[in-house]
Amino acid sequence: MQFPEAEWQVETLIQHLGEEEKILGAVAPPLFITSNFAFENVEDWHKAYLEPFTGPFMYSRMTNPTLRMAETKIAALEGTEACKLFSSGMAAISAAIFSCVKSGDHVIAVDTIYGPTKELLTKYLPKFGVECTYVSGVSLEEIAEAARPETTLLVLESPSSFFFHLQDLEALSQWAKPLGITTMIDNSYATPIRQQPAKFGIDIVCHSATKYLGGHSDVVAGALCCSRERMIELLKNEIALFGGALHPFGAWQIMRGLRTLPIKVKAVAETADKVAAWVRSQPWVSETFHVGFDDFPQSELRDRQMSGWTGLFSFVPQCQDQSKVTRFLEALHLFQLGASWGGHESLAVGLPHSSILRPETTWVVRLYCGLEHPDDLIRDVRQAALAAGWVS
Ligand SMILES: *Cc1c(COP(=O)(O)O)cnc(C)c1O
Repeated sequence: MQFPEAEWQVETLIQHLGEEEKILGAVAPPLFITSNFAFENVEDWHKAYLEPFTGPFMYSRMTNPTLRMAETKIAALEGTEACKLFSSGMAAISAAIFSCVKSGDHVIAVDTIYGPTKELLTKYLPKFGVECTYVSGVSLEEIAEAARPETTLLVLESPSSFFFHLQDLEALSQWAKPLGITTMIDNSYATPIRQQPAKFGIDIVCHSATKYLGGHSDVVAGALCCSRERMIELLKNEIALFGGALHPFGAWQIMRGLRTLPIKVKAVAETADKVAAWVRSQPWVSETFHVGFDDFPQSELRDRQMSGWTGLFSFVPQCQDQSKVTRFLEALHLFQLGASWGGHESLAVGLPHSSILRPETTWVVRLYCGLEHPDDLIRDVRQAALAAGWVS
């Protein structure tokens, strides 16, 4: 049997790819806690530079066997030639952005991207003479109108993680390519199990691996996936010079998380379907946003570029009184008050939120459904609504 097999499905690939060499028969791969690697000869030293994805290891800021194993799996999942892990999602995202801009360049970004990414574009990049224009991301025309001759980068996040707006990945990458505009996406919500943006021509796919890829709320990590050619440039520049490498133990944790990613994504999506449907049926809820609803406003696009959704949804409570929203959030027991998602545990946040598409600031509650039973989660939301005085 050839190893790996070309026709391996995602579930098989996760368990075996990159693990051809079993060390002392260990089925859980060993952890290479070493900063440095010694070479057999000078030729191998050169090879380490020339073949960063397959060659000898050199120094753990650049390459490490535990990282390479996890990176091989994630690249295959995303359908890209290369992947590098970083010490956080923001380390991956900032390396990606810096690799695409120089002084005088212009960036277009979807306004509903992750907050710190937006801050990097709005507050930090102007220090280097890089400007950013925000768009809602719903139409190609709107984005084309924002483009300038000096535009070099288009930053996407589809679905966005509060209102769950989608962008048409294929249309946007086809538009950007001939103009020399690099496209990047934050794929943390969907995971490669539900969406592989590179299939639609997106150049750089980033993850907060802290979320679903790690999956156990015990590691902060990021991933950047792209072509081999682009990654070689990143290795020489943003990876070597900014030095945001992930510790090998983090890569080991990511690998452990990946083992169950497909079943986990399926489980949390099914739970979110049940909890979101119940929430939507409640008289104290004015709107519910869930990618999995049959009547999701962008369902045609969803079905074209995603193979499903995950465990995150949000709703707008009818009562917009801040103290009541606070009481609701603090009354939740199973849903812990916290901003992250993708782990085993359910989480809730409530924030005043607005976007280009919804300019009026609204209190939005976002729920991440973890691996608890959906009936227990629904009971939890019901008792919190009672505590907030939204139902009697
Ligand atoms: C959490 C998050 C990030 C940042 O990742 P860190 O690992 O916390 O640095 C980026 N994008 C999205 C959508 C996130 O949810």
